[in-house]
Amino acid sequence: AFQLEPKAKVSDACASYADLDTLNNKLHPYVRNLANNSDFFSYYRLNLYNKKCPFWSDENGLCGNIACAVTTLENEEDVPPIWRAKELSKLEGPKAQHPGRKQQREQQRPLQGLLGADVGESCVVEYDDECDERDYCVPEDESASAKGDYVSLSENPERFTGYAGEGAHQVWEAIYRENCFSRPPISDRSTSVPGLSAPFPGFSKQQAQAALDFKQVMKAHDRQQAQRSGAMEEALEVEDECLEKRVFYRVISGMHASISTHLCYNYLNQTTGEWGPNLDCYKERLHGHPERIPNLYFNYAFVLRAVGKLRDYVQDYTFCTGDPGQDQKTKQMIRTLAGAIPAGPQIFDETVVFRDPTEDGISLKEDFRNRFRNVSRIMDCVGCDKCRLWGKVQTNGFGTALKVLFEFGNGNVGDEKPLLRRTELVALINTLDKISLALKALNDFQTMMTAQLDGK
Ligand code: FAD
Repeated sequence: AFQLEPKAKVSDACASYADLDTLNNKLHPYVRNLANNSDFFSYYRLNLYNKKCPFWSDENGLCGNIACAVTTLENEEDVPPIWRAKELSKLEGPKAQHPGRKQQREQQRPLQGLLGADVGESCVVEYDDECDERDYCVPEDESASAKGDYVSLSENPERFTGYAGEGAHQVWEAIYRENCFSRPPISDRSTSVPGLSAPFPGFSKQQAQAALDFKQVMKAHDRQQAQRSGAMEEALEVEDECLEKRVFYRVISGMHASISTHLCYNYLNQTTGEWGPNLDCYKERLHGHPERIPNLYFNYAFVLRAVGKLRDYVQDYTFCTGDPGQDQKTKQMIRTLAGAIPAGPQIFDETVVFRDPTEDGISLKEDFRNRFRNVSRIMDCVGCDKCRLWGKVQTNGFGTALKVLFEFGNGNVGDEKPLLRRTELVALINTLDKISLALKALNDFQTMMTAQLDGK
């Protein structure tokens, strides 16, 4: 079980657990305020419904389909419709139309109060959905031609949705498999695998076989038992020990730990109908696995360092909500936050990653980038609206952090900083907010554990 040693340094980061907790206690209100109380950061435009899963068929095979994935709650038929997974995973709150189209129709009338009255389209919309070579994610296209909606992030908190079973496992397994650097990335794999192609289109024979092996392992063991022993983690553990590959694994595993924390902390008790923390869920998914919580702390250090590096960058950034007063306030809020983050490498030192200037080093970085882009594509395979929303926001957030840390240079003269899209900035801040909230929730869970042990 996990025993936090506060003074110990978080692996591959520079700060201790205690340092990061102290910093989080200080910064948490700023991050919350920015993510929830500014129009710029609380609305996200994305294509949530119109992208097909590019790696396996939604219609057949291993339960990648939505109906299968969301009806896996035990005895779901007995659960009132409102508590069923399908209902829980629905999005709530205003979903605005695209500002361009709406503006043309409504001639500059306020966009449901979201983005201000006289938004210049060029200001809000990004037409570019092509990958820049320095992108770690497939970008969300904000242009009028893209099929997407603005979604209120603050009205769709990440929490328990009931999404589970084969569909969810298939997605996690595909994500972790990108970490196996010795294999070709998923997109490079051949699509025709005689005898195996039906359940795994897009997988090579080796990949499909490995997936089948995994399924058989999972079937052969009692599922609960397999989860407790971390069978999947062991099978997919980092194969190689180089720092870059560890960083990749930690980011993914830390994101998974954050999602688990949120769903355990905002859990639906289906007997009482009340939402609240579920200590057993925490024990099973986090406390019993000593490496997961450290990976979440690692992610905090990593993303915090990236936000800190925005300090100067946002000075010249145009926030464009249409309300200059609010834009000024938003800029001030993000500068205050970035300014409160230690500027040196006390938290995370990105200069020790991707240090090798040889061809091998360059191709490792490219490989890393392509694999992370694949992780962002895999999000289109998530069969639950809310989970897909937060999966997309967070992979984009981590992708942006990777871009800021590894493509912005280190302030040397001549370093060209790639521009950040609006969606990237929004995703970065909201990802920080999620991790920051998760750390708070973990502290609460620890307190509950202690109280339980003390018999209170
Ligand atoms: P899972 O969490 O599905 O894990 C599968 C296997 O991965 C485990 O057996 C273990 O071996 C390994 N594993 C687990 N955690 C880690 C870790 N931190 N590091 C390394 N390996 C690990 N459900 C919700 O209720 N709300 C959500 O918002 C939500 N969002 C999701 C977003 C995405 C992108 C995905 C893929 C799923 C999401 N889910 C969400 C589903 C949720 O993550 C679980 O899949 C589901 O609750 C079933 O959990 P499980 O106990 O079977 O194990």
